[in-house]
Amino acid sequence: MRLILLGPPGAGKGTQAARIVDNHKIVQLSTGDMLRAAVKAGTDVGLKAKDVMDRGELVSDDIIVSIISDRIDQADCSNGFILDGFPRTIAQAEALEKLLQEKDLKLDAVIELEVDDSILVERIESRIRETGGARSDDNVETLKKRLAVYHEQTAPLVVFYKGRNILQAVNGMAPIEAVSQQIDSILAETVAV
Ligand code: AMP
Repeated sequence: MRLILLGPPGAGKGTQAARIVDNHKIVQLSTGDMLRAAVKAGTDVGLKAKDVMDRGELVSDDIIVSIISDRIDQADCSNGFILDGFPRTIAQAEALEKLLQEKDLKLDAVIELEVDDSILVERIESRIRETGGARSDDNVETLKKRLAVYHEQTAPLVVFYKGRNILQAVNGMAPIEAVSQQIDSILAETVAV
């Protein structure tokens, strides 16, 4: 099973991805987590990505696509994966289509978590209060930038995947349990497991 979780920062993609991983024995591929690990390890990619991430902007498509392409080739992805935070631009979505084709793999579903901006701001503010801003891009200023970038560069993917008849929207403002149930029923209908 191969899925994309699409949605703005703070929509709950990470939380829902973790639940899907548990239920379906597939791996979660979060480009944000991979980049944060690269920053922490001080790799070339990490050095290039750090400032861009701290500003709430997007790391270049080339870097991201090559990270994902290599990651998908690893053995633990053979049972399937859930992409969390990727693709984030039309160019990334097109590159993903191409690389899946080359690897002879098919995408089963794109699930969009719909959440209003005002709720996202509240959620991130409380995450900052809870964690004391553990993530260096977790501050209100950066969040606003990340939201603007989402609307500008990532939201067009909704139309892109609608055009491929693969998009399923879920109300991401419902309680976590209810969101999971919506996702589970979509997966039961669309994915042959
Ligand atoms: P996230 O944890 O998904 O919110 O990602 C944190 C930051 O990592 C983003 O604000 C971007 O700077 C960068 N990032 C993560 N995924 C991508 C992607 N697919 N394309 C470009 N930049 C990304």
